[in-house]
Amino acid sequence: MSFSTLGLSETLLRAVTEHGYTQPTPVQTQAIPAVLAGGDLLAGAQTGTGKTAGFVLPILQLLSTPAVAKSPRASGRPIRALILTPTRELAAQVEQSVRTYGKYSKLSSTVVFGGVGIHPQISHLKRGVDILVATPGRLLDLAGQRAVNLSQVEILVLDEADRMLDMGFIRDIRRILALLPRQRQNLLFSATFSDEIKALADGLLNSPAMIEVARRNSTVEMIQQKVLPVDHARKRELLAHLIRTRDWTQVLVFTRTKHGANKLTEQLGHDGIAALAIHGNKSQAARTHALAEFKRGRLTVLVATDIAARGIDIDQLPQVVNYDLPNVPEDYVHRIGRTGRAGATGEAVSLVSVDERAFLRGIERLIKQTIPQEHVPGFAPRAAASMQPATRDAARRAQPGAPAGRRPSAAGARHQVGAPRARPAGRGRPSSQAGRAA
Ligand code: AMP
Repeated sequence: MSFSTLGLSETLLRAVTEHGYTQPTPVQTQAIPAVLAGGDLLAGAQTGTGKTAGFVLPILQLLSTPAVAKSPRASGRPIRALILTPTRELAAQVEQSVRTYGKYSKLSSTVVFGGVGIHPQISHLKRGVDILVATPGRLLDLAGQRAVNLSQVEILVLDEADRMLDMGFIRDIRRILALLPRQRQNLLFSATFSDEIKALADGLLNSPAMIEVARRNSTVEMIQQKVLPVDHARKRELLAHLIRTRDWTQVLVFTRTKHGANKLTEQLGHDGIAALAIHGNKSQAARTHALAEFKRGRLTVLVATDIAARGIDIDQLPQVVNYDLPNVPEDYVHRIGRTGRAGATGEAVSLVSVDERAFLRGIERLIKQTIPQEHVPGFAPRAAASMQPATRDAARRAQPGAPAGRRPSAAGARHQVGAPRARPAGRGRPSSQAGRAA
């Protein structure tokens, strides 16, 4: 399958080829023709699947035909496509994709999000843009100041809709919908399909084409996952040890809290490891700086909380570390999805202390896999006796030199990443309650 069979124009194909893509990803193969056909779309696709190009490319093509002036008084360039994303980082990245793929088109775009001055955004909008990428809160602020007119929008995209709902944006989304014309094309992308997402899709989409590329709530198959049992107090020491001994040069580390992120960053600095943190208490400028340094390879470790990391796109990120396990199992899927993107292989390592075992169980229930455990010599947890039975077993065998991460599971079967678990998946719903109740 090649891009040239998907119905895209020569100018778009040129931009895509120059960007180094040779083949469309599965979500692109399905989404591009569906969007070009002009109907609504409901797409189940996680980040890392190439979903952004899946909607940006056909939108660029559809908008390359001149807008029909709806009224003789419609002045300047009306906004013709609106892309809503949950976070600033994702918004910035999506707009960068619009620029990259739209390199040879005459369409203009801009991005608006909170945390930075509103006036430059207002003046940019005044000049007129075809494609607007926005986070919901700032867009409503701009609409309140009459700095943005959404009455000519032809295409609406809700990107990472599940995350927008998780972050409490549903009312904002409804208020934005009220500002749009009734007649329009709607595209909804979501990694998961909760009842809330289904309700939103029901109300928004008109006989949508439906595509689903990753299995629901499944982890990206290319990612090698491991659990490293360790005592809570020795996590920082283990992380520094792994970075040094395994020659990790670019590691995205997740912590549950902002405070934890700051503390770890400081401690790694004392260990001589270059690290910066990104989280909600940091200014947008500090977050952008940290991300840029990390992408340039000048920073070994980027420490992030779940929300701040959402939507971060780093080509070829080989290593993700869960310093703490998330207490909401779905966040685990989002975290490890930062690596192994668009066909690259990646490794996601979780440092798990005994007090986190309920979180681990919740995650394994959700992803329907037992994550292989590896005992790092010299770091066997003192509290091993109270870990799962399988872990105790593994701890006994985990002598220096013993093959790591290759152990039969509790059920006696060896599970590969991506393979279904031998045991039927959990009683009851594999919901986030499992982790929260821990
Ligand atoms: P996304 O899921 O849209 O965040 O994309 C994930 C990553 O895949 C990004 O780094 C893209 O640049 C990359 N990507 C998207 N489409 C392709 C493709 N057809 N071939 C190779 N890489 C791609």
